[in-house]
Amino acid sequence: MNAHTHLIARVRPELARTEQELSCHLFPLPPDGAVPESLRAYCGFDITPGQAEQLDGPVGMPCMPCLLRAALVG
Ligand SMILES: [Zn+2]
Repeated sequence: MNAHTHLIARVRPELARTEQELSCHLFPLPPDGAVPESLRAYCGFDITPGQAEQLDGPVGMPCMPCLLRAALVG
């Protein structure tokens, strides 16, 4: 798995209402490293950068579908 091809983020805790929003999702990044305007996680969860906090590593509860897909996509 290439550590530079995705980022880990979740909805800010004060904005999160569901378990899915509280989970840490993995977002694929384009090869040039630019952060797109809206991000779609491997599991299909959409997040806007304004409501998200980027994490240095998995914190709390990871999103299992994201983890599995990231591992498969590599
Ligand atoms: Zn996810």
